[in-house]
Amino acid sequence: MIHEFAHKIDMRNGDANGCPPLPPGFGGRRNAREARAAWMAVMKAAYDDFREKTILAERFGAEPPWLDEYGATSITEFFAVACEAYFVNRPNFGRDFPEVLAIFDEFFLPKRP
Ligand SMILES: [Zn+2]
Repeated sequence: MIHEFAHKIDMRNGDANGCPPLPPGFGGRRNAREARAAWMAVMKAAYDDFREKTILAERFGAEPPWLDEYGATSITEFFAVACEAYFVNRPNFGRDFPEVLAIFDEFFLPKRP
């Protein structure tokens, strides 16, 4: 459920790409383009790191990452799997992906002025 919902919000601004439409001023950025670039930088870094961990686990018997390995198939799936983990097991998610936790918090729990 959460997974599919995540794909839906991801696609609200066109193709699914791991970045939902961000509200104005997101992350203190001046415009939507900068906000989006900052979001994608965080997601991409976390995704690359996660992929590397799944590869190490698969090929070299390293400890598999806690997050569902399906998230390593694409950044779109990574976003959906990460959203699910964020809502279902926030403590584990925050431990493994503190930067993603921060942007998700701002996105899902915006502070009212
Ligand atoms: Zn999916």
